[in-house]
Amino acid sequence: MKRRQTRRLYIADLAVGGGAPVTVQSMTNTLTEDVAATVAQIAALAAAGCEIVRVAVPGMEAAGAIEKIRRQTTLPLVADIHFDYRLALAAAASGCDGLRINPGNIGAEVHVREVVAVARDRGLPIRIGVNGGSLEKDLMARYGGATPEAMVESALGHVAILEKLGFGDIKISLKASDVPRTVAAYRLLSNRCDYPLHVGVTEAGGLFPGVVKSSLGIGMLLAEGIGDTLRVSLTRDPVEEVRVGYEILKSLGLRQRGPDIVSCPTCGRTRIDLFSILDAVEKRLLSVTAPIRVAIMGCVVNGPGEAREADVGIAGGMGKGILFRKGEVVRKCREDELVDVLMAEVAILEEEWCTT
Ligand code: SF4
Repeated sequence: MKRRQTRRLYIADLAVGGGAPVTVQSMTNTLTEDVAATVAQIAALAAAGCEIVRVAVPGMEAAGAIEKIRRQTTLPLVADIHFDYRLALAAAASGCDGLRINPGNIGAEVHVREVVAVARDRGLPIRIGVNGGSLEKDLMARYGGATPEAMVESALGHVAILEKLGFGDIKISLKASDVPRTVAAYRLLSNRCDYPLHVGVTEAGGLFPGVVKSSLGIGMLLAEGIGDTLRVSLTRDPVEEVRVGYEILKSLGLRQRGPDIVSCPTCGRTRIDLFSILDAVEKRLLSVTAPIRVAIMGCVVNGPGEAREADVGIAGGMGKGILFRKGEVVRKCREDELVDVLMAEVAILEEEWCTT
């Protein structure tokens, strides 16, 4: 999969664009000024593999809280700001690693200059985030709505303001709440500039529709080489966003983090409770970061083949199962033992992976 060449920037020490691995990010949904709750959520996000975290900065209290949050996490922190340049200055002074603010919405040029000067001094990249739901009124009128073309023009307008001030540490997002518009907008933009792109389908919904829309939208773009960092947007615990983000990247072979699970859909041949077994295994694999392929198969028709190809796997029988490790049969065991024996093998593989 050939990725489009973009410029590289750094959020703290993390590279984005210019051939760096596609990074997974999310956003906290705690009150940012509730430092304890925000730090706890950031820790949960980091444990799931989140690499950049954005916090909402709707007021000065939130901007000030970044200083305390900064001391309690190593994740790169991006301050999400709308309209008020003073919040950007305060968030920068508090130690954030990046700003998400649209320069065209700040107001007087003198204020934009102040924000750019601080960003430059502190090495903070600025993300321009165009959202189809809050596009400028004149563009909406001219294009007859929040079309992909209107979104791109909005983004390039914000870019031009920063470029005029000699600032190029920019990444851009162009999010709409539907897949076709999101994909069309990113395709257009990626032909117009080489700034790194933050991709995602915004306000994608709850878990089921959100996963489908995000996988399609982000997946289509990544498959075309578009996208340097991503956020899956779900009306859920943001930890779920990170998990889905990695599943998308793993499915496309762009990143490898944690186990890859192969499981059959079950059919009339299944003679064990595969749904429960899979649920239990998935839960217990959440804390595993080693890239282990695990097969959970219902019977001896396709089961042994998949289980043999995986690092570890089970193929079910009548109230029992066969455990495979690296293509070899390890043992037969009762259905109620399967999860534990499988996880014991996973633990051995993980230890081997950690020491190599
Ligand atoms: Fe059915 Fe066996 Fe295939 Fe599972 S592996 S779907 S149980 S044939």
